[in-house]
Amino acid sequence: MTMTALITHRDCALHEMGSYHPECPERLAAIQDRLIATGLDQYLVYYDAPLAEREHLLRAHTAEYLDALAASAPEKGLVHLDPDTAMNPHTLRAALRAAGAGVLAVDLVMKGEVENAFCLVRPPGHHAERAKAMGFCFFNNVAVAALHALEAHGLERVAIVDFDVHHGNGTEDIFRDDPRVVMVSIFQHPFYPYSGTEDTPKHMVNVPVPAGTRGDAFRQIVWDLWIPALREHQPQMIFISAGFDSHYEDDMGSLGFVENDYAWVTQQLVDVAKECGHRRIVSTLEGGYNLSSLARAAVAHIKALAES
Ligand SMILES: [Zn+2]
Repeated sequence: MTMTALITHRDCALHEMGSYHPECPERLAAIQDRLIATGLDQYLVYYDAPLAEREHLLRAHTAEYLDALAASAPEKGLVHLDPDTAMNPHTLRAALRAAGAGVLAVDLVMKGEVENAFCLVRPPGHHAERAKAMGFCFFNNVAVAALHALEAHGLERVAIVDFDVHHGNGTEDIFRDDPRVVMVSIFQHPFYPYSGTEDTPKHMVNVPVPAGTRGDAFRQIVWDLWIPALREHQPQMIFISAGFDSHYEDDMGSLGFVENDYAWVTQQLVDVAKECGHRRIVSTLEGGYNLSSLARAAVAHIKALAES
């Protein structure tokens, strides 16, 4: 077994956007329960997520945005930033933990204390742009983590892999002019946030796919498009925006991936990392809203990391 960190924090469950909102605290509990039920929890090294510091966030976001977000935080009730994205009194702290988890993950992996890490956190991040919260996201957790690897640890090339059903518009926005970061993604199209198909930078491989796309087509895309791009870039660390709303049973989207597809793609990424002379992978939770399939898919992904 590989040493795999599981980084989470109870603050992440205190952020709530209304009792019927699909991006709910129970998402984390569902994954945690499944880790225990499968016995996988015993093979993971658990860490509390620290709060991200302002200097970490400023690598991905503007100072004006950070200040505006802090000023929007309510003392009680909910404040909506868009129709889907709201802050309660705990949101800011949860978002700081979610971003801080990625920072700690990078530090642990770079120090060799663990070989890879999964950040079991919410709110998710990949829709958050440099100066804009949207789509349930406030800080772009994967971007903050990748920039920490580049700026604090001196890496020169990293990759971000995104298999959420939605395009990671925020990640594209933040790294649009930064070819140190190759981004490969697959997403349902046309679909929210209706981005990712035009004016794509050369260092990003966005693969829009129609509703109904299943795992066999996904695997072909990984082979034909993702892996060649990753091999060419030779990333010194691989980041994963791990969204499980691309699962067959998740009604948030209409793709047809199943547990084995997430395990398979994770193994491919482990193999690419090894080809690049290391095993450094940091994965962070994005979407996934059917609690049952979310838990099964996330555990299949984490198990693949831990067995690598
Ligand atoms: Zn999503």
